[in-house]
Amino acid sequence: RSKDAGKNTCTFFAGDMNDEAFERLLMENGLRLALERQEFELHYQPQINPFTHQVEAVEALIRWRHPDLGMVSPARFIPITEENGMIRQIGDWVLRTACSQLKAWDDDGVHVPRVAVNLSPRQFLRGTLTATVVEVLENTGLAPGRLELEVTEGMLMQNPAESVDILRELKALGVQIAIDDFGTGYSSLSYLKRFPLDSLKIDRSFVIGVPDDSDSSAIAETVVAMGRKLGLNVVAEGVETSDQCRFLRACGCKLLQGYFFAKPLSADNLREFILDSVRASPALGRTTAL
Ligand code: C2E
Ligand code: MG
Ligand code: MG
Ligand code: MG
Repeated sequence: RSKDAGKNTCTFFAGDMNDEAFERLLMENGLRLALERQEFELHYQPQINPFTHQVEAVEALIRWRHPDLGMVSPARFIPITEENGMIRQIGDWVLRTACSQLKAWDDDGVHVPRVAVNLSPRQFLRGTLTATVVEVLENTGLAPGRLELEVTEGMLMQNPAESVDILRELKALGVQIAIDDFGTGYSSLSYLKRFPLDSLKIDRSFVIGVPDDSDSSAIAETVVAMGRKLGLNVVAEGVETSDQCRFLRACGCKLLQGYFFAKPLSADNLREFILDSVRASPALGRTTAL
């Protein structure tokens, strides 16, 4: 049977719906135990400067190894943890793990300048985020500027006034702020001026059509130019081909992330990736070490 048919017309496939309900139940129960059973892992996807080929940052992406379901995508389980409130504990774990990993790489002589961590709406508007970030930075000893927090337009627009306050608090700590999936949310450009931001991540949906589709290319080019003029770092997400890489680089996009360079990698594999890139380009390696 087609997966799409099962998803979109589940009323016609009672069997499938039961499967889905069963799977959901499995996930909800499993999620309660997943932290203590250490079933979560963070993978890290490099963000690469196409002019220097250096890894300037990595994005931490959570993975769940369920004993029966196998690898479960965050797109499937994060929304469940948002609903049942478990995202709080999981989100704290992600922050702590990502920051300690950066320090562990430091100790290992593998320099990763910055880690980006995705926040969920409930984590963001929870009121204790700043305190948690302070605690994690103190406990891990990570310099605040090496942590970037990714928020979405939707999260900010739920409560723009409160969001400005939270972002100001975080900025005061020295933490960086990125807008994830830029261009896909409901918001106006005026908020780019209102919110204190450091980076803007062009959503993959705009990168897919580059460079063949002229509309996508025009949007990507314009967003890069706008971001640069506003003094923001612009990251293109979902770069899969050398043509996309070349086009975005020609637009002046200084950070690219996507399968073309690397999929999200385990901590060990990210370490190898960095060491390989240093070996391939010793001059850049020396720059990285500075
Ligand atoms: P996101 O933050 O927009 O992350 C980018 C997603 O695109 C990741 O999917 C990544 O694996 C995928 N990706 C990267 N490059 C390419 C590419 O070239 N082609 C394609 N097709 N995909 C690419 P992933 O890891 O499945 O994560 C999905 C979403 O789950 C993330 O979207 C983020 O919203 C959420 N998420 C992941 N980890 C966390 C977390 O620790 N906390 C929270 N709250 N959300 C998370
Ligand atoms: Mg993200
Ligand atoms: Mg994204
Ligand atoms: Mg996305």
